[in-house]
Amino acid sequence: MNEPVYNFGAGPAMLPAAVLEQVQGELLDWQGRGISVMEMSHRSADYMQIIAEAEQDLRDLMHIPANYKVLFLQGGATLQFAMVPLNLLRGHARASYVQTGIWSEKALQEARRFAEVEIAASNADRQARLVPPQSEWRVSQDTAYVHIAGNETIGGVEFDFIPDLGDVPLVSDASSHILSRPVDVSRFGLIYAGAQKNIGPAGLTLVIVREDLLGHAPTNTPTMLDYAVQAKEGSMHNTPPTFAIYVAGLVFKWLKNNGGLQAMAERNQRKAALLYQAIDASGGFYSNPVEARNRSWMNVPFFLKEAGMNGAFLQEAEARHLLQLKGHRLLGGMRASIYNAMPEAGVQALVDFMRDFARQHG
Ligand SMILES: *Cc1c(COP(=O)(O)O)cnc(C)c1O
Repeated sequence: MNEPVYNFGAGPAMLPAAVLEQVQGELLDWQGRGISVMEMSHRSADYMQIIAEAEQDLRDLMHIPANYKVLFLQGGATLQFAMVPLNLLRGHARASYVQTGIWSEKALQEARRFAEVEIAASNADRQARLVPPQSEWRVSQDTAYVHIAGNETIGGVEFDFIPDLGDVPLVSDASSHILSRPVDVSRFGLIYAGAQKNIGPAGLTLVIVREDLLGHAPTNTPTMLDYAVQAKEGSMHNTPPTFAIYVAGLVFKWLKNNGGLQAMAERNQRKAALLYQAIDASGGFYSNPVEARNRSWMNVPFFLKEAGMNGAFLQEAEARHLLQLKGHRLLGGMRASIYNAMPEAGVQALVDFMRDFARQHG
């Protein structure tokens, strides 16, 4: 392929080309062993090294404190919607959820199977255009934890602060913005993320959890859904998603080699600014409804003045090798996901196309 292709899909999303090339290079023969990582025992010395390095590189990147466990699980972020209440209620009846969009809503609906769910704050009365400031939150004393979706992938609404909850553990669904910028892990009880947005291939789910929150699941909790079991067995109670962990590990090395999360943050901020600026400067041809402080750096939904032009927009974008810009089916319009792997040139190409399209059809 000669002309660059830029993939704006929300997930499974694009991966760094350098990582895919390395995977291709060692697909049939990993480091001279004559077999693929896909064909390796998860308990072999080689694979134990792969998973240990992946964990260490992630710990280095995120400065994960020693009293946190890193778990490599399956079932996606959606299974975490259940595992979080199962493990973290710790005898409490109630758990608190901040409602900021479709993913936090799904998380709280699942939690209702296990807990009395308290909506600590909601933006539903403001068209989901912002994160309610913490001054609005109402959190009961006896709640088990507070759950947020740090970045709402569909609505493009991202937290601009880490809530301060005293002793109440903070849980974040970070599926679509983990590793996009530095974050103080010690402010969270638990962070989880499906891998297919900003980490690696689908099939892997990352959980970072403070040790004192482990070991409180009810005795009838399925073994595989108990964080304590997964932590004790190094994510190997059964066969983990070995290949996905290997690719994620290469992504962690790529991040380290490219300046780590501070460098990513600077780049991601520039990318997002370029795109939002183009939307805001279009004289209403394009629009994004999210309040400036909560505009996501990773997922940028935008709408054309006339929805009747959506088809033409997508078709012409594709002709210019700008792929998967169609918005989520629940929201319509467009969405550009610009995760770590998206180079600045990709966002520039999108902005150039948007300007040309608006000129032609405006
Ligand atoms: C994609 C996504 C999910 C669902 O992830 P699965 O891995 O498909 O279960 C949950 N939360 C957020 C914020 C997401 O972006």
